[in-house]
Amino acid sequence: MILVSACLLGINCKYNGDNNKNDKVEEYLKDKQFIVVCPEQLGGMSTPREPSEIIKFDGNAVIEGKTSVINNKRLDVTKKFKQGAQEALKIANLYDCKKAILKEGSPSCGSNCIYDGTFTGKKIPGVGVTAALLRKNGIEVISEKDLI
Ligand code: SF4
Repeated sequence: MILVSACLLGINCKYNGDNNKNDKVEEYLKDKQFIVVCPEQLGGMSTPREPSEIIKFDGNAVIEGKTSVINNKRLDVTKKFKQGAQEALKIANLYDCKKAILKEGSPSCGSNCIYDGTFTGKKIPGVGVTAALLRKNGIEVISEKDLI
């Protein structure tokens, strides 16, 4: 079973109420079993919602309590991001997912890069909070960009 970011399959759970529908992901999954999750919704956030970024470092540091996630109104949403990651992990374990395909660049789902915390559109190498927690628990995490 593969865990997949819901927005990649056309579900309108993105912060702005839109989605990130991706044909490559759809094609890849057509003969496989998968389950979709949106960690930010699972963390109790509404859609639409304010965009958020990890202030410093990345999702690993969030899990270790070394940094925070804030939204663009400067509200601390760290707890919700951690909660969402825990819920996504619970579902992954429940369905015995060994692999996840998560949306690149997201503060929850990014697996190679994230935004740098300045809300200026600049990306840095790093992982989102959910991607970090899944990896810490032995689940392979790739992004839609890693599919050939
Ligand atoms: Fe997509 Fe993940 Fe953001 Fe939800 S949290 S909208 S699944 S990138």
